Amino acid sequence: MGNLGGVNSAHSGPVPRIAVFGSINMDLVAYVETAPSRGETVMGREFRQVPGGKGANQAVAAARAGGDPVFLGAVGDDAFGVQLRSNLVERGVDVSGVSTHEGSSGVAHIVVEDGGSNSIIVVPGANGAVTATREGDARLLEGSSVLLLQLELPMSGVVAAARAGRAAGALTVLTPAPARELPAELLEGVDLLVPNQHEAAAITGETEPHRALEELLRRVPEVIVTLGADGVLYGRRGGEPLHVPSQRVEAVDTTAAGDTFCGAFAVARAEGRAPEDALRFASAASALSVQRFGASTSMPDRSEIETALG
Ligand code: ADP
Repeated sequence: MGNLGGVNSAHSGPVPRIAVFGSINMDLVAYVETAPSRGETVMGREFRQVPGGKGANQAVAAARAGGDPVFLGAVGDDAFGVQLRSNLVERGVDVSGVSTHEGSSGVAHIVVEDGGSNSIIVVPGANGAVTATREGDARLLEGSSVLLLQLELPMSGVVAAARAGRAAGALTVLTPAPARELPAELLEGVDLLVPNQHEAAAITGETEPHRALEELLRRVPEVIVTLGADGVLYGRRGGEPLHVPSQRVEAVDTTAAGDTFCGAFAVARAEGRAPEDALRFASAASALSVQRFGASTSMPDRSEIETALG
């Protein structure tokens, strides 16, 4: 069950509906001393199966932060599909926009070596079938204040979703990851772009964040460049850039910090908070997440975020 119809602690209005159109994967993580080379078999130390995918992670982050997210995506007709769907439900995400496709769910095969370096194979599976918006997507977007998008689904699907979100009156927010050239037909449907500093540099060719921000504001009306431990840089066309520092914390695992940030930001923004307040709320959420291991399992809930904000 989502938070539909409820209220959340420090916010007296209705719980905001957030739509997320994106990827959902099962991460299969093997921990080994040294990754095998071609033709070699090695014994692993430990194995973990963890639900992931940037889209699904952002939806979970929005639920934890006090929103009522609906996930629009696809799983396969395999055992992972069943698990991925029920994991979202358990975490308070509405799955009425999740379709089931013949074949495998999205899977990320991850090998983590001692010392932390990793190699990853992503097989998109059902995610690769989401090449357009589907029956029902427009209806689910209608009641949503914010639509979160990333680039882990086929580009034609992301473009269609941005258009549909815009038509439904939602604020459309794109995390441009994995970084790639952003076609004009996509940017036309995007209100707010949220790259990290590496993605911002890859897209613009500018490594200095203020310059990258300025360049990105030529393409979309609003931009947040996330700067890891250095916080975030926010800009709106015609306004002065704003730097919001992050809280000083001891980071142990920064996986999904950006997804936690986006999910929490969407909730705060949908509640009508001013940009600076929404940025502080999202920064507090992601600073909490980096202090714990894991991706969706490390995301703080509403009360923890409110406590950290003081
Ligand atoms: P991504 O996870 O997409 O690579 P970042 O590394 O920029 O993105 O992190 C996103 C946000 O998470 C940052 O803007 C910041 O608010 C928070 N964050 C990340 N790393 C830290 C850290 N070491 N200390 C505090 N906050 C952090």
